[in-house]
Amino acid sequence: NEMKVHFPAKSGALTKTNGLVKAVDDVSFTIRQGETLGLVGESGCGKSTTGRAIMQLVKPTAGEIRFAGKSLAALPARELRQNRRHLQMVFQDPFSSLNPRLTVKEILDEPLKAHRLGDARERTEKIRQIMEVCGLDHTYTNRYAHEFSGGQRQRIGIARALILQPQLVVADEPVSALDVSIQSQILNLMQDLQEAFGLTYLFISHDLGVVRHICNRVGVMYLGRMAELGTTEALFSNPLHPYTRTLLNAIPVPDPRKRKERIVLQGDVPSPVNPPAGCAFWGRCPNVMEMCKEVRPRMIQVNDQQSVACHLYG
Ligand code: SF4
Ligand code: MG
Repeated sequence: NEMKVHFPAKSGALTKTNGLVKAVDDVSFTIRQGETLGLVGESGCGKSTTGRAIMQLVKPTAGEIRFAGKSLAALPARELRQNRRHLQMVFQDPFSSLNPRLTVKEILDEPLKAHRLGDARERTEKIRQIMEVCGLDHTYTNRYAHEFSGGQRQRIGIARALILQPQLVVADEPVSALDVSIQSQILNLMQDLQEAFGLTYLFISHDLGVVRHICNRVGVMYLGRMAELGTTEALFSNPLHPYTRTLLNAIPVPDPRKRKERIVLQGDVPSPVNPPAGCAFWGRCPNVMEMCKEVRPRMIQVNDQQSVACHLYG
């Protein structure tokens, strides 16, 4: 039941936020069942767009997402609706992603009703169970979302995503809005739930410390393209792409208390809609060669743990 995500060159997936168009092209990867695959990169690199396209919240203009052997775009509406159940999302902001005027019970009941799962008594039991595994006291059921702290709200958000027993959970910066002390609680909860339910995660983050802690493999995105993809261990111990190296150098100490640090690089970030010809990174790359300005590097596998899109290899 692996998932294949493929957006070919030339705007495979597009999304518009605040009037800005964010494009993803030339991104192709597989999410293996039971793993946590991280997507990292600076803000605007297309990692959220990729996650949203997988969730069918953005309709790709080109490319394909295959889940359990089937292309999602090719599914009839009815099957697509049923499939939605298997793909759920945890959002960054536990404040704006939960309706403050609904009680916890109503929030958790919504997806069950939408998918017609069980009668009222069965749904109440499902809600009780999911609250328990997500570390939410059952006496909270009739309280409103706005009455909770950020960490508790994120537990509600996770419970809402998991109540349908999905196979893949796309978590877009699930802890970056939380206090550092709460972050590890939520990450530990996500790891426990993954083990208990055999979940697969796509974990989107700008925070390399968090990614290193939770992901089995990591994809590094730059300007809508995949720069490098590898096992977490290989990527952190032997980063291949000059961009990955720059990112890792940008975090001087792996100090968990400093996890809030954003990735900040020198130089202007070119527009993802009109990326430069050749390698998207050449304007900021310390290793740039003449050919980089004209020839776009393709992703190649360089060893059994890593693939990279850079002319320094292959
Ligand atoms: Fe740098 Fe060239 Fe590699 Fe791009 S292809 S990352 S410009 S060396
Ligand atoms: Mg984002």
